[in-house]
Amino acid sequence: MLTQTVIFTPKSLSEALEVLNDKKPVVLAGGTDLLVQIKGGGIPPPRYIIAIDNIKALKGIKKNGRKVRIGALTTFEEILDSELLAKFAPHLLEASYEIGSPQIRARGTIGGNIMNASPAGDSIPPLFVLEAHLILQSIEGRRKVAISQFHTGPGKTIRRRDELLIGIEFEAGDKSSRYFFMRLGTRKALAIAKVSAAGMLNIKNGHIGKARIALGAVAPTVVYAHGAQDLLAGKSLSPEVALLVANAAQNDCHPIDDIRSQAEYRQAMVGVLVERGLMRIMNELNGDGQR
Ligand SMILES: Cc1cc2nc3c(=O)[nH]c(=O)nc-3n(C[C@H](O)[C@H](O)[C@H](O)COP(=O)(O)OP(=O)(O)OC[C@H]3O[C@@H](n4cnc5c(N)ncnc54)[C@H](O)[C@@H]3O)c2cc1C
Repeated sequence: MLTQTVIFTPKSLSEALEVLNDKKPVVLAGGTDLLVQIKGGGIPPPRYIIAIDNIKALKGIKKNGRKVRIGALTTFEEILDSELLAKFAPHLLEASYEIGSPQIRARGTIGGNIMNASPAGDSIPPLFVLEAHLILQSIEGRRKVAISQFHTGPGKTIRRRDELLIGIEFEAGDKSSRYFFMRLGTRKALAIAKVSAAGMLNIKNGHIGKARIALGAVAPTVVYAHGAQDLLAGKSLSPEVALLVANAAQNDCHPIDDIRSQAEYRQAMVGVLVERGLMRIMNELNGDGQR
């Protein structure tokens, strides 16, 4: 028997939260993951769907004091057009540019990318290195969860079914903050990452303070490269340090073989991407005379 799907199209956040509480529907944002999964039989047709694309409160990119907030419904096209994010999260723009195709970037949202919980989701490593927090809301209230605590496995998160991801928040860096995002896929467009790496270094007077490196598609969730981060702290960037840190990053992950790539290749490529990212930061600093 065919399942009849009921689709809710709330215009306000409060209306959406009521529906989420009453019916526990499946959330539909841009549909570029969900509709593919339903059509492909990966998930059964849901009894209830809530289409959230009319809710204005979930859109937009704002800065308030040092906090930058991205609405969950912000598309990758909008991220690429944002001067604010170009300044405070340039590596998120690099990642957004790699996603799908112009059509996918026009529909696909950052909230959907996070909630789909793929370890290869391109927006996730950049948000890890920003130490971003996710803002989840239900009729009972709001909670903030560090993105590094949110995913528990491929397709799995700690979201409750009555909660909506409403936005992503992070603290803006300053002139000492440098970023990179690097990714390897089968080809340039319309290919999911085999491996990705993002980095954030705070560098003052040539010395690295805080360092964050996150790796995508090499574990059941995106992970921090803790060994690599520890090695960077207090050092000055040089080709030797970049190589040392890249080797450490390889030991920070435990990839698997799957349809997209092999574990051994992924592990080797983690080193290549991290080394390239660090060398790029070093060259940028040499270029603008800050070191
Ligand atoms: C051809 C193609 C190429 C692609 N290429 C890439 C790529 O290169 N890199 C990449 O990372 N991804 C890629 N994707 C995957 C997809 O486009 C992204 O993950 C996109 O960001 C999903 O966003 P969406 O708004 O379409 O999410 P949807 O499909 O609407 O939703 C995805 C999941 O998130 C849930 N959800 C969405 N919004 C919320 C919310 N606010 N609160 C709670 N739950 C929510 C939904 O219930 C669903 O489970 C590709 C997809 C296609 C079809």
